[in-house]
Amino acid sequence: MKTYIVGNWKLNFTVGEASIYLHKLLKTLPNYRDLEVVVAPSALALQPLSLQVDRHKIKLAAQNAFYRDTGAYTGEISFAQLRGMVDFAIIGHSERRYVLREDDKMIAKKVAAAIRNHITPILCIGEIESERAFGETKDVIRDQLIGGLSEVSDDELSKVIIAYEPVWAISSAKSAKLATPDEVGEVVNLIRKTLMDTYGAKASENVPVLFGGSVNASNAGAYLTVPGVNGLLMGASSLILNEFVDIIEIAKRVRA
Ligand code: PEP
Repeated sequence: MKTYIVGNWKLNFTVGEASIYLHKLLKTLPNYRDLEVVVAPSALALQPLSLQVDRHKIKLAAQNAFYRDTGAYTGEISFAQLRGMVDFAIIGHSERRYVLREDDKMIAKKVAAAIRNHITPILCIGEIESERAFGETKDVIRDQLIGGLSEVSDDELSKVIIAYEPVWAISSAKSAKLATPDEVGEVVNLIRKTLMDTYGAKASENVPVLFGGSVNASNAGAYLTVPGVNGLLMGASSLILNEFVDIIEIAKRVRA
């Protein structure tokens, strides 16, 4: 299976800054086989960057989109409009769940809309700190996983990527803590078991599972060696070009 290194730029970089970053990254990176490097700029930058990017080296992801393809939805951008421009879309990120109040029902519609438009959804799931403290992690993970995939058929499961992002470990959390590789492994196993129980072994074995939460160049290697982890999703570290390149190189070494 490929290894995925995904940078979520969130609400950072002007279109010009995003373009300069992409230019430098393209110049730095060789053409890696078996390593998928993905960046998720703001929606505004996607169109110009889609003309600039060399998709053999780097792919683009949307950070979000709306679940209807067209219609009276002022201010929204659809997966249909992004079709051909991006290869991936981050869906259900914790900032959209908890700041913008997206629920599993809406997230499921977005996952379906992405697949319908030939865009690979990266479905983010993860518990908040109090849910972990109260022993609810398993239930939250199962609910978000099954809920987010509720409109995905057995045949479509291979078109989905799951990202486990414990919300308490994301760098923007008030007192972010690092998840231990054991904690990550435990939840990744649960994700794989839930997929297997729901979709069967054959359909679920090729679903990539990524980890995200304060990943940087010092801990990337440890997370990438957790069994069942197929890549990393990161925010803060992806904004620093040198660090992002270091993490890509670590991934290449660790997964070679
Ligand atoms: C994220 O927001 O998806 C994320 C993992 O952020 P960070 O790497 O900054 O913790």
